[in-house]
Amino acid sequence: MRDETRAVRYGHPENLQPGDPLHPSPIFAGTYYAPGDPANSPRNYGRSDNLSWRQLEEAIAGLEGGPTIVFGSGMAAGMAVFGCCLRPGDAVVLPSDGYFFCRSLAETYFVEMGVTVLKAPTADDAQAALLEEPGVKLLWLESPSNPELTMCDLAGMTKTARGKRILVAHDNTTATAFAQKPLALGADFSVASDTKALAGHSDIVLGHVSCRNQMLADQVRNWRTLTGAIPGPMESWLTLRSMATAPLRIERQSSNAQKIAEFLATRPEVERVYYPGLPSHPRHDLAVRQMRHFGGVLSFMLRDQAAAEKFLAAAKLVTEATSFGGVSTTAERRARWGGDDVPAGFIRMSVGCEAVEDLIEDLTQALSASDAEV
Ligand SMILES: *Cc1c(COP(=O)(O)O)cnc(C)c1O
Repeated sequence: MRDETRAVRYGHPENLQPGDPLHPSPIFAGTYYAPGDPANSPRNYGRSDNLSWRQLEEAIAGLEGGPTIVFGSGMAAGMAVFGCCLRPGDAVVLPSDGYFFCRSLAETYFVEMGVTVLKAPTADDAQAALLEEPGVKLLWLESPSNPELTMCDLAGMTKTARGKRILVAHDNTTATAFAQKPLALGADFSVASDTKALAGHSDIVLGHVSCRNQMLADQVRNWRTLTGAIPGPMESWLTLRSMATAPLRIERQSSNAQKIAEFLATRPEVERVYYPGLPSHPRHDLAVRQMRHFGGVLSFMLRDQAAAEKFLAAAKLVTEATSFGGVSTTAERRARWGGDDVPAGFIRMSVGCEAVEDLIEDLTQALSASDAEV
């Protein structure tokens, strides 16, 4: 069965009885009826198990190709992998241009606990050289990276790491498992923030870890139970519901983003466009091999901070907001946060599901406004 077919059937019970609802309802439970020996109850307590999590986990597992544990956020999912893999004296290799908060988490807490944090850019597979350093236990990859959409060769990098018995986690948030399958490319963990395109409606915070095998999954599940980094049943159910339309949304976002990237590349106000679907992307050939869709996130550079701010103020169909993957188009000047090493005029845009003609019309007037003298 293909992903699109699976997506619309997720949650449908195999053995429907007449009168059953087609889609499950959320299950709210703080505790369960569990008499006698706990081993006799499938579920005991609300922090360790929930049917709405299980349904979502099964659905994501089908997509990612490995046992899956859902978390209260993407960061909680990432923390579970760091927490399960890293001990004092170990080293972790991170992308220097990946999601800022993953770097910040490692550098704020893990360094103080005696973990060495090594960083190199995603581009040119530069992280591979750091695998030679002593004590490396975990290679953390992010391709396409957020926010510059640089890429690395996932199959090649995981093969090198495996040869050295180093675990590989891939942050698959930007691509989603509909576009890219890290476990099939050799990763031990596929981690994602489902806050983005999977849940896809800008109203949920949730994450997951999918694992290469059951042994790793048991460790990650145990981490969740002990730390309590659980998602709410309502959020889990809404994410399961959203998955049915995720392939449709991601296809539309990707095709809109492709057209917008091509449009931006023709505009004199735009100094550079970053999108894996453009032949001018330094690893476009790799993107074609590694990804099924190029996704709804693109970045571009205007001359300076003033031009970027004028652009954002003038655009009517582009809401100024952080995050990405929602149904309506948003954008922001990334340097306003100070975490990413990007120029002042750098804009990250999350392309939504609008009619692309409307978006291009609006972008045309907003780009003209960005260049106007005041
Ligand atoms: C948003 C994001 C995260 C963190 O996810 P939350 O759901 O916000 O905790 C991790 N990695 C990437 C690439 C992201 O974009």
